[in-house]
Amino acid sequence: MTLKFAELPDHEGFVAPVLPNGEPAPSASAFTKTFVGYQAACSCGWTDRRRFPATPEGSKEAEYRWWSRHAPPLLAAAPPSWLVTKSNLLCEQIVSLAAERPLAALTLLSQIESWQRTLLDQAVSRARETGASWAEVGEAMGVSKQAAHERFRAHVST
Ligand SMILES: [Zn+2]
Repeated sequence: MTLKFAELPDHEGFVAPVLPNGEPAPSASAFTKTFVGYQAACSCGWTDRRRFPATPEGSKEAEYRWWSRHAPPLLAAAPPSWLVTKSNLLCEQIVSLAAERPLAALTLLSQIESWQRTLLDQAVSRARETGASWAEVGEAMGVSKQAAHERFRAHVST
């Protein structure tokens, strides 16, 4: 059984049987003759450190670790899929506009650039106010902790 959220397309959780050598099996469906316990894992490479007994209850507990430990911080940083769809559509429409009426596309892109900068500063401020670390801010933006801090420290009070 795989564990999944639509907002997290790159993360498929599974319960990995722990092999006698102490290593988790590479996938839930990996052939394992004997196993000594269960451990939560994810297609992204994450593995839970905690082991559970090789029982149906142990499997359920391991499964719950993916839902309760791995997914929540990822979901917090994942935009709603309907909004991602809208954003992608807007991008495609601007690409078409730029091909047909480049000056109109420039006007629109300049408008977007001005509000995008303001919104970015506001979102970073709000993330910091609500307890996000610079590492989390960087990760959400796909940059390093240092890059995020250097770029926004002057605009953000904390
Ligand atoms: Zn994952």
